Amino acid sequence: MAYKTVNPYNNEVVKEYPNATEDQLQEALATGHDLYKTMRKQPISERAKILHNVAAKLREHSDELAKACTVDMGKLYRESKGEVELVAIIADWFADHGEDLLKSEKIDTIATGEAEIRHQSTGVIMMVEPWNFPYYQIMRVFAPNFMVGNPMILKHAANTPTSAQMFADVVAEAGAPKGSLTNLFLSYDQVTEAIEDPRVQGVALTGSERGGTAVAGAAGKNLKKNTMELGGMDPFVVLGDADMDAVNDIAWRARLYNCGQVCTSSKRFIVMDNVYDEFLDSLKKHFAAVKPGDPMDPATTLAPMNTEKAKNKLQSQLDDAIAHGAKVAYGNEHIDLPGQFFMPTILTDIDKDNPAFKTELFGPIASVYKVHSEQEAIDIANDSPYGLGGIVFSGDADHGAEVAGQIETGMVFVNNFMATLPELPFGGVKLSGYGREMSHIGQMAFVNEQLIVKTDKPDLGNLAGGLVATDPE
Ligand code: NAP
Repeated sequence: MAYKTVNPYNNEVVKEYPNATEDQLQEALATGHDLYKTMRKQPISERAKILHNVAAKLREHSDELAKACTVDMGKLYRESKGEVELVAIIADWFADHGEDLLKSEKIDTIATGEAEIRHQSTGVIMMVEPWNFPYYQIMRVFAPNFMVGNPMILKHAANTPTSAQMFADVVAEAGAPKGSLTNLFLSYDQVTEAIEDPRVQGVALTGSERGGTAVAGAAGKNLKKNTMELGGMDPFVVLGDADMDAVNDIAWRARLYNCGQVCTSSKRFIVMDNVYDEFLDSLKKHFAAVKPGDPMDPATTLAPMNTEKAKNKLQSQLDDAIAHGAKVAYGNEHIDLPGQFFMPTILTDIDKDNPAFKTELFGPIASVYKVHSEQEAIDIANDSPYGLGGIVFSGDADHGAEVAGQIETGMVFVNNFMATLPELPFGGVKLSGYGREMSHIGQMAFVNEQLIVKTDKPDLGNLAGGLVATDPE
């Protein structure tokens, strides 16, 4: 069976889940489509109440949800607890703001009558999500689409099935009607089958280029609107006048949080020469201080990676980077524990022809570059196939924001850790994907911006340059 929970801390197979049947997929499509029709007639305020209830239920079940997440993919229990709270905050925010964001907009027009845009639901959304934030990734799609009235089918990652099912169970327990979020253990072919179905009107994927290319390809072939939240190689730029206490305190966290398995982890540290040695010494010291162990133990500060496969892939990428000339400034040693632990590692001397220069390393490896000018820092930051996020540290926040504006990514934070909150749009450019989740932009991802122009009677004298049939001369 493809879907199973294998605890990456001790490799125990906790639970296996059978693949979805054809009947289950057909039932989910039919139930979702019926619900779409029903929801179109309901006031949004009814769904807002349910979404607040989802937030309350998430908080009520926070301990079980956090434990399931940690057992599924290994993250530190306190980080899992933080994720559950963030997910509840997102639900509350969309419940509070969704109705207002979706209200009709009047348009000033020279057309006869009154024109407005109504934000309508479109139909069932197929969402495909990754394991690294098992609840947060679902909620980024679920909350706005539930508010607008788009039912959803979820295909979660093969290694986080328990979290996926628990999330869907919480949504049901909170009173969401059947079909609002149907979790199915789908094969790739079944995902394509769902995308081909006319009842599915949108496709959202968060994941790698591999998954993104396949799912966006199927969506494009079937002319289905889609959003792609893909990988990143986010730069962390340290300018020469940066507050080094703040930099040193944040840099290691920005790389090691969630064991470095975050799309917006700072993967490339681009550091001005005058502060480079201090930066590298501090990063080594912090990387050396982490304590691998049971992610349920509050004393543990380094979690295992999510699967053996992911750990082996990272090791082979590291070996390849070293074979191409990169130097190991710290790490690359075995951790003597049975789980999927990977020693935090720092690489320097990564030339442009090294595969590591342009490949996402999805785990606790920091690539550090020394630069001699601000322009060189910006050029290296932009010399990447990805464009997701980034951080700039500068002694002057306004100047930091000017540098941030020259970085070709979707999100940049100045003098701080990258944060994700419901009111802040999330997404990237280049191979990091397209579209935005969260915020007012995410609320509109799968909305029919329906134009309605009304008048009591037509005015054929007011053609106003519009394309209308005229009487034959
Ligand atoms: P992945 O392999 O692309 O998997 C993501 C999801 O896509 C999983 O549910 C996976 O299912 C599914 N999938 C993969 N190939 C598919 C196909 N051909 N048809 C249908 N579904 C398919 O991604 P990952 O490597 O596990 O996740 C980590 C990646 O996600 C990193 O690159 C990270 O940067 C990125 N990420 C991006 C964001 C963002 O918001 N931009 C956020 C988090 C993570 P299976 O598990 O069954 O293979």
